Amino acid sequence: MDQAVVQDENEQGQDASQMCDEGQDGSDGGKKTGRGVLLIISGPSGVGKTTITHHVEKELGASFSVSMTTREKTHADVEGRDYYFIGESAFLKAKEAGELLECAEVFGNWYGTPREPVEKMLNEGKAVILEIDVEGAAQVKENMADAFAVFVLPPSEEELLRRLKSRQRESEDVIMRRFAKSKAEIARAKECGIYDVFLTNDILEETVVEAARVIKAEIQRRQG
Ligand code: 5GP
Repeated sequence: MDQAVVQDENEQGQDASQMCDEGQDGSDGGKKTGRGVLLIISGPSGVGKTTITHHVEKELGASFSVSMTTREKTHADVEGRDYYFIGESAFLKAKEAGELLECAEVFGNWYGTPREPVEKMLNEGKAVILEIDVEGAAQVKENMADAFAVFVLPPSEEELLRRLKSRQRESEDVIMRRFAKSKAEIARAKECGIYDVFLTNDILEETVVEAARVIKAEIQRRQG
């Protein structure tokens, strides 16, 4: 099972039109300073990245960064575990105040990573996982080039659509919008050069193990 394709580091090539406030420091992934490693996991809706993220969290003792969002809470969401659900004006206030490490508008809603808890966990030497979209990943990489970024691919477009429908989380209309966006997101992820590894989630039980293996190997490599 050779699912991981490790890319060369190359240019970031991102338009930072929706950049949140800057101010990161280019940390060294824990090699010299004892800071923790920042991990990014991205992939289209329905690809299985949340299950993968939770497995990595458990296997590596990593900490999940809980994002803020203005999207509506679904029956599957738990406040404070999956997201902090807030109104748009509160979100924009946090964005303007530079309280977000990155943020992006996805499917007409805002999503963003609160900066302070991430900084705190990294300073404590913890591995921190951001489950964010390509736009947000580009912003993070611009400020913290040593973040390790993984993109999860579906085995096929048909399978992605089947998985999106089987979640029974959204209306048909929302599902089709998410599906349409996912194709563009995959194309952008492949061309933008910010992802270190692409994993194809064919069999979920195997992909979770592979994701933990690849990330663990990277953390060990950085710790020398
Ligand atoms: P969902 O509504 O399915 O939970 O998330 C929709 C998309 O937003 C997913 O691609 C997810 O990874 C992304 N996302 C979730 N939190 C954040 C965040 O804090 N920042 C960014 N940029 N994207 C996020």
